[in-house]
Amino acid sequence: MDKKRKNNDFFRFKVQVLWALITNSFLIGFVQGKIYQGKLKNVCVPGLNCYSCPGAIGSCPIGALQAVIGSYEFKFSFYVVGFLIAVGAFMGRFACGWLCPFGLFQELLYKIPFFKKVRTFRGDRQLRYVKYVVLVIFVILMPLFVVDIIGQGAPYFCKLICPAGTLEGGWPLVLTNKGLQETVGWLYAWKNLLLVLTIVACLVIYRPFCKYICPLGAIYSLFNPVSLIKYKTCGDGCTNCGACQAVCKMTVNPAQGLNDLECIRCGRCAHACASKSMKKVPLKKRAAEIQESNSKINQL
Ligand code: SF4
Ligand code: SF4
Repeated sequence: MDKKRKNNDFFRFKVQVLWALITNSFLIGFVQGKIYQGKLKNVCVPGLNCYSCPGAIGSCPIGALQAVIGSYEFKFSFYVVGFLIAVGAFMGRFACGWLCPFGLFQELLYKIPFFKKVRTFRGDRQLRYVKYVVLVIFVILMPLFVVDIIGQGAPYFCKLICPAGTLEGGWPLVLTNKGLQETVGWLYAWKNLLLVLTIVACLVIYRPFCKYICPLGAIYSLFNPVSLIKYKTCGDGCTNCGACQAVCKMTVNPAQGLNDLECIRCGRCAHACASKSMKKVPLKKRAAEIQESNSKINQL
């Protein structure tokens, strides 16, 4: 079981690295201190990959969502909302576990030994709701209502909070662009403080930003109960041994249901289950299940 789990972890790590490299392949941007602005930039990527990262060839959906909501000629963005619904409906938080560069960054920090790891603490579960508050206030309401005299809002989550933006966009651009070095001020200092706090938290807690702050994870989590890609527990084989819960770093208890909003579909639990009662539901079967429930709804 251990070997299978390690193989799965390593496979997931390779997918995460490969995806991060593909979606940040404009490497010359890091040397020139410039952002890629080709046509691909109109396309969103599933993870939190900052638009301002010099290597990024796509856009962060949270940044794009705020840009549309905050625009003075605000129109409902069918593209960005449709993209989030499509990714969520297809994979839920699988995107977090496998396709988010900032998720990978947090995992790498957590792997650093020497620091005592904290699995959970009092208030952990309640703190997980903060990401929904961040989503509503900083991504939706503030860009919509806190506007300038021409009615233009700002991407407040990116501007005031996002440590992924500071790491992927702020640091490389400020390091390589002399003009920017002269203009940075208190806001940049504040964002650096948040990034440093996030890094310190990552040394002891597994993916703290994903658990407590990330508005993209908040959106995808709502799709976990219905997404096409998911795991399933078949009750008959389960002996309630607790092995799956023990290996889950998101502190979910998979035996009580794999539709938990916190599950990032990493697959560790399925490989820890000695009775093999936890399985990935084949896509074809999931599609048939969804079709069946749709036809039941239509018959009502
Ligand atoms: S919760 Fe957010 S930061 Fe974490 S992995 Fe998911 S999208 Fe990435
Ligand atoms: S419940 Fe399983 S798949 Fe989900 S995060 Fe935990 S270990 Fe990973």
